[in-house]
Amino acid sequence: MTLAAQPEVVAAPAWQFFDATVAAVRRLGPSFVRLTLTGPELAGFGAAGGDQRFKLVLPRDDAGLDRLRDRGQDWYREFCAMPEEQRPVIRTYTVRAVRPERAELDVDVVLHGIADGHAGPAASWAAAAVPGDRIVLLGPDRPGSGRPWGVEWAPPPGARSLLLAGDETAVPAVCAILESLGGPPRSVTALLEVPEAGDAMNVALPAGATLRWLARDGAPRGSRLVPAVHAALCELGIASTPAAPPEEVGDELLWEVPEGGSGDDGAASGCYAWLAGEAGVVKTLRRRLVGDLGVPRGAVAFMGYWKLGAAG
Ligand SMILES: Cc1cc2nc3c(=O)[nH]c(=O)nc-3n(C[C@H](O)[C@H](O)[C@H](O)COP(=O)(O)OP(=O)(O)OC[C@H]3O[C@@H](n4cnc5c(N)ncnc54)[C@H](O)[C@@H]3O)c2cc1C
Repeated sequence: MTLAAQPEVVAAPAWQFFDATVAAVRRLGPSFVRLTLTGPELAGFGAAGGDQRFKLVLPRDDAGLDRLRDRGQDWYREFCAMPEEQRPVIRTYTVRAVRPERAELDVDVVLHGIADGHAGPAASWAAAAVPGDRIVLLGPDRPGSGRPWGVEWAPPPGARSLLLAGDETAVPAVCAILESLGGPPRSVTALLEVPEAGDAMNVALPAGATLRWLARDGAPRGSRLVPAVHAALCELGIASTPAAPPEEVGDELLWEVPEGGSGDDGAASGCYAWLAGEAGVVKTLRRRLVGDLGVPRGAVAFMGYWKLGAAG
């Protein structure tokens, strides 16, 4: 991934709307489509690498979107104040690749629910997208100093073992992270549960990295991923004495990332794990890792990327 030249460093980047059009559509496999988005404004998109997230904004009408844009950094207050039927639909995605010199950004979208008519607005939009379609993005105008906005990937420098695991929605982030890993050789294990074997992709792996694609093939969500993560942690020697089970999290989307990304516990144990996917599966992983295996919580980022049965 190429990063934009950033002449000025600020603590917190500004969130900004970016106008774009679809430049290319490429089917990557049964469950994924890659959309290349372009537009002059994307030359200033401040991607910071790793699992950089951004928002796809699907306007219901131009007036609603203009109201948000007019509010600048205060757009979210305006968004909340809008009647539901006027609010643009906003969904979170990962920057798969960015080419500022060409003002281009790639996003890999999971085509969930298309076949059975249960797709959400973002998947439906992506499934029907053709070159020339307009879209709006919300993202950072620069990476900023310190921990970049919208990036959770933050292994402590001393981590010798890295584990990345997730479902299909985490594929773009895991692939982007793997492709950008540099530095001293480390043990890197990536586990990705995808709907079908045909969803496996070619990824340029760094030295010392292994990537396993786990095809669900109709089995329950997480049924391939959870045991594979468990086994990988035992193999890596990350699991230790079982601790007290972690306090349960409620029904809200689980998002538990080491404070400030420092991963202090991780530094102590020499490991760092990044886990993302369906919220219930991530919750199960949290229970198994922290409660059963005694993995220090500060060494793991747990991220519910979406929740079965809940929109947005
Ligand atoms: C930080 C972050 C990064 C993400 N990056 C990506 C990415 O790069 N690519 C990507 O495809 N997704 C990514 N996601 C997940 C994506 O935001 C959700 O899948 C989102 O809900 C899709 O919106 P929608 O409008 O299609 O469906 P929604 O309107 O949100 O949901 C409609 C219905 O579909 C279900 N649903 C939603 N997503 C899925 C799914 N993947 N599989 C099966 N059922 C689903 C919901 O439970 C709901 O019942 C990311 C999420 C986060 C938080």
